[in-house]
Amino acid sequence: MKKLTGIGLGPGDPEMVTLKALKALRQADVIYYPATYSKSGSVKSYSLEILQQLDITTECRPLNIPMTDKNRDEIYRKAYQIIKESLEEGKEVAVVNEGDVLFYSTFGYLFKMAKADNMECCVISGIPAFIAAGSLGDIPLVEGNSGFNVIARPKSFAQISQMLQANPDDTLVVMKMKVLTGWYHHLKQCSRPFLYVEKAGTTDGFVTSKVEDLKDREIPYFSVIIFYT
Ligand code: SAH
Repeated sequence: MKKLTGIGLGPGDPEMVTLKALKALRQADVIYYPATYSKSGSVKSYSLEILQQLDITTECRPLNIPMTDKNRDEIYRKAYQIIKESLEEGKEVAVVNEGDVLFYSTFGYLFKMAKADNMECCVISGIPAFIAAGSLGDIPLVEGNSGFNVIARPKSFAQISQMLQANPDDTLVVMKMKVLTGWYHHLKQCSRPFLYVEKAGTTDGFVTSKVEDLKDREIPYFSVIIFYT
């Protein structure tokens, strides 16, 4: 059987796909990308938007990964079955996702299943969103002996405040921040400097460190916030 390669595509800018990733994408027989299907049947995929900007001719197929909390195990099991069938057909299979491929990623779940099945796997890391976002700020992400914390899908603003207070010398990154509503009010009373970044590495990206810019702004899924020390 051929191998399964997980490939991180970086934050969105096609020039931030590594040379190693590009080479592996060209060499694969099929590339699977995570996608969500709307009720009308149209496919939405951030990864596909990146793939379409690359000079590759490899066949690309969607993996249906709905954005829901329900039946996650079942969703990943079905996705894994599809990949496994391609491997059993003797295909060299690549699975991509945005950012890094083992960092809050779809591939992470498939990787565990493939490992449990003793499949040959290879991982090609990508530039994670928080690194790309950090490059849009005016100060270093972390320095000296400061720490660095990342959370995804915060449970509440109280959880974020508690983390900031408990770790005053650490940078904190919050991913999947869209799960909370009321960011403007939270940031208004927060004393830590921050950088808010939407769709880092795309032409419709947005960056601010001013709370007033977020007053009436709808927070999209592809957004991240960095709290500096
Ligand atoms: N594997 C990805 C993370 C996937 S989880 C990585 O390594 O970065 C999805 C979350 O990542 C989003 O909710 C958002 O918080 C963040 N994210 C991914 N791409 C982003 C981008 N281009 N700009 C801002 N945030 C992004």
